[in-house]
Formats: sequence, C-alpha cells, structure tokens
Amino acid sequence: MKITDIQVGEIALPLRTPFKTALRTVDAVRDVVVRVCTDQGAVGYGEAPPTAVITGDTTGSILCAVEEYIRPALVGMDVMDLPAVMEKLAGCLVHNTSPKAAVDMALYDLWAQAQGKPLFELLGGARQSLETDLTISVNPIDQMVADSVDAVARGFSILKIKVGKEGLADVERIAAIREAVGPHVALRVDANQGWTAGQSVQVIRAMEDRGLNIDLVEQPVPARDFAGLKFVTGQVDTPILADEAVFSPDDAVNIIQARAADLINIKLMKTGGIWQALKICRVAEQQGVACMMGCMLESRLSVAAAAHLAAGQGIITRVDLDGPALCAVDPFTGGPVFDGPAIVMTEDPGIGVKNIPCDNWR
Ligand code: MG
Repeated sequence: MKITDIQVGEIALPLRTPFKTALRTVDAVRDVVVRVCTDQGAVGYGEAPPTAVITGDTTGSILCAVEEYIRPALVGMDVMDLPAVMEKLAGCLVHNTSPKAAVDMALYDLWAQAQGKPLFELLGGARQSLETDLTISVNPIDQMVADSVDAVARGFSILKIKVGKEGLADVERIAAIREAVGPHVALRVDANQGWTAGQSVQVIRAMEDRGLNIDLVEQPVPARDFAGLKFVTGQVDTPILADEAVFSPDDAVNIIQARAADLINIKLMKTGGIWQALKICRVAEQQGVACMMGCMLESRLSVAAAAHLAAGQGIITRVDLDGPALCAVDPFTGGPVFDGPAIVMTEDPGIGVKNIPCDNWR
C-alpha cells in the first residue's frame, strides 16, 4: 500500500472553559490535521496541536514540517513496511515531534485498517477500556474547588490539579480541594515545571504531613533540571512523574537509569508518535517503571491514537487523556468512545475516527 499524498488542514473546537496552567491560557483546540492517502484508496488521519510552550511546535512550523520535509520523504513508501517508513519519518528532520506524531498515527491508522483490526489489539491488546482523569485549571481557590466538585459530579474519580505558581500557597489549593471532594477521589498534582527543587520538597512534604494523599506529583521542576528532579524524587515519599523532562526514548533511559523520577508521562506529541513511544514502553517495562499516557490540548482524533496505545500496553497504568472531555463539541464519528471518565475501545479498524471537521485539505 503506497503513500500517494500527505495532506494538511486545520480544525478548531471550542473548550468548555479556558484551560489554564503555569505556562499558558487557551480557549479552543486549534490543531493541524493530516490525511495520508494511498494508492489503494485507504486514508489515515492524524492531528498535531501547536503546543509552543512545551514542544516548540507552532501551527506554521507543523504545516511546514509536513509539507516541505515529511511529505517529500514519505510519498512512494509502502505503509506496510512500518519500520522503514517510521525510521524515515524520524530522520527526515530533527525535533518537530508534533508533526511527526500526526503522520505517525495516520500511518498506524492505515496499517491497522489494512489488517482489519483496531489498533490497540495490534499494539498488545492489554485492556478494552481506560479511566482518564480530568484536569482542573489554575484559578483562585474557590473556583478550583467548584470546578473539582463539578468534575466529581460529572463522574470523574481522578482529578489532575494544575498548580505551580505559588509554592507553599499551592498546598492550600490542594487541601481545600481534598476537603471538598472527600477521601475517595484520587488527586494528581501537576506543577508544570513551576517550582524550584527546594520548593518542591517543601511543598510535597507539607502535603504529606497534612495527609492529603496525593497519587503523584508531575514535573515539579524545570524540564532541564535533571539534578533537581532526582533530588526531589529522593527526598519525598509521593511518586514523582517526569513529563516535560522526557521527550525521546533516550530521555526516558536517562531518567529511569538514574531513578530521577518514579513514573514517566508518555505523550505522542513529545515522542513524535507511537513508534517512538513503544520504545519508551520497552525501557520502562525492563526497569519496572510504570507509565502514564498523557496528551496536550487535543481533540478526540489524536487522543484516540493515544488511547489505542494505552489500551495496548500494560506498562501504561495511568491515563490522562481528557482532551475530548475538555472540548465543548465532538464532531467526529467512530473509534474509541469517550464518555466522561470512561474510554471504551471499539472494534472499528485502525484508529477508527472519521468525519474530520476540516474543509481546507491541501
Ligand atoms: Mg504535565
């Protein structure tokens, strides 16, 4: 099955409420979509969000990478020779992990469609359904408490609380949320690089001393502060999850071998797609380090690809795939069903998501 064209387009989906982290505020998902066409008429779809503050990828850079580098490199290649096409994709330009991820998932979509199977089964088939957390944006305490109570009312029993701007004052946010939602809701805390190493130890120990029972703390220190991450991990009991510090399989090897974090957050937009993400899964499995499957602000199209990987791989024990739950609308058909916290895999071949709301393919 030969690749005849790789097209790009753009989609825009409003969010239910603005998404706020220590790094940015966003009110809609405005992503690039890709469509890989083949000589047999089959089509595969992918998506890339311009998460400039994390990946460095912008709408313009994603479009340019696909149109000027990836398309010329891959057209004419055989989708079913996945190792060759994936290594070509990885090598046709450095960085640019988001456009690579969009094309990678479109290729996996085609590869699984050709075998008549849902992708998650071909990726290991570890489970049929997943439970995602829901992100609570950084806001004044009262609003974060209200948003958390609302999320629990929507059925979510795992919340991911964004903090990281105020050090010890962040403890008060978590304490207020814990009091409001009760003891049975799992709380994950994501500082998005917002604390120093010293601050992190102080804040996390304070949460431990107050018995707030935190499931994990995500990326407390800046991505480049490897020594700080390792220091924090060694100083606290709460599991530390590396997010912005791990993009590539090599990053994962470095973190895992040094025990600089307890858990690894895999996102397709950081790894450059499923092919590279599977390499992280192998390293993690060998070292007994569990992973979380995360996403950026993405629609159900690319989050479905992440869900297939998470459902396929048993080493991915936590799921943070709330992109679709944050969107106000879902124009797509087919693929995994996102119903509040539940993600239920279906038998649709490939990734399964169709009806992409894009009328400007080029
Ligand atoms: Mg994070």
